[in-house]
Amino acid sequence: MNNQTVLLTDYAWPDDTVERHIIESADMKLVTGPATPSPAPEIDCLVREHKPSAIMTNWAIVSATAIAASPQLKIVARLGVGIDNIAVDEATKRGIWVTNVPDYSVEEVSDHAVGFVLAWTRGIVFFDREVRAGRWAPASANLRRLAALTCGIIGFGRIGRATARKLAAFGCRLLIYDPVQSTSPSGAEFVELPRLFSESDIVIVHAPLTESTRHLINRERLALMRSGGLLINVSRGGVVDTAAVIEALRSGHLSAAGLDVLESEPEVPPELRVQSGAMLTPHVAFSSDASLLDLRKRAAEEVVRVLSGELPRYPCNK
Ligand code: NAD
Repeated sequence: MNNQTVLLTDYAWPDDTVERHIIESADMKLVTGPATPSPAPEIDCLVREHKPSAIMTNWAIVSATAIAASPQLKIVARLGVGIDNIAVDEATKRGIWVTNVPDYSVEEVSDHAVGFVLAWTRGIVFFDREVRAGRWAPASANLRRLAALTCGIIGFGRIGRATARKLAAFGCRLLIYDPVQSTSPSGAEFVELPRLFSESDIVIVHAPLTESTRHLINRERLALMRSGGLLINVSRGGVVDTAAVIEALRSGHLSAAGLDVLESEPEVPPELRVQSGAMLTPHVAFSSDASLLDLRKRAAEEVVRVLSGELPRYPCNK
């Protein structure tokens, strides 16, 4: 075994067998932290203790302190797409690669967004709760025809495009906002944010969390939406101001919110939990049998590639 250690900080699947097989087959050592992400100071300690050449992180925060704590560190590999839990600037400053796996869950996350759309237009989550509570009241249905609605998509990258393609098949009108992209599929229109909010029945967030997107969905923007609409967030919790969403659900301005991610996750605010319009999933939009296997293999292979002296396939440093 060569003397290169890989630290897997945390993982959202049953074990580390896939990662271990790939790392150990390359003659490297794998040290695995607890499945549930430890707080940043504990990750800093783990890095200080093991001095890894590579860190693989799922949700755990890899801070500037952690990055500075291992002189032989060459790569911080995110097991996922978003890199908001990694001190990328510090890594770049030190010549350390930051990588992700950009496209492993495009189908899953866009399916999840469309799933929330259909769950709302067809009342699937709401009526499931009603029927289980002993209420069989079809006359109370207040359902919507998706083909007659307008959906606004914020963030038109890999996942936003897949959601647009899938929703287009249902016949709804599509409005899109993205500060960088500019070519839309036929039938979709690029607009500025105020118009997207004011003309959309459904707003779907697919933008990454950055300093400029934090609380992009706020009280003022939600107020522009048509009354009784649906907000969906399957990107990162911090892009949406949860307090503003709770307020809009409480007043009925939003009839529902489909949230796979929360700024407070894994804590769920009690005020959100009591809203009947809230459809909540525990940050699983990325997950499926196929996507997890793809993610774990490709992240571990990226680490082996870089530690073997090759260039990474998915660099995120600017
Ligand atoms: P991507 O990089 O392909 O696309 C992101 C798009 O957002 C880009 O086109 C970019 O220009 C755009 N964007 C940047 N700033 C914006 C802004 N201020 N307003 C609107 N758009 C903006 O990424 P992707 O693969 O489509 O993933 C999108 C996000 O989804 C990721 O950053 C990640 O945080 C999140 N995600 C969540 C899950 C989950 O399980 N819930 C899984 C995978 C990805």
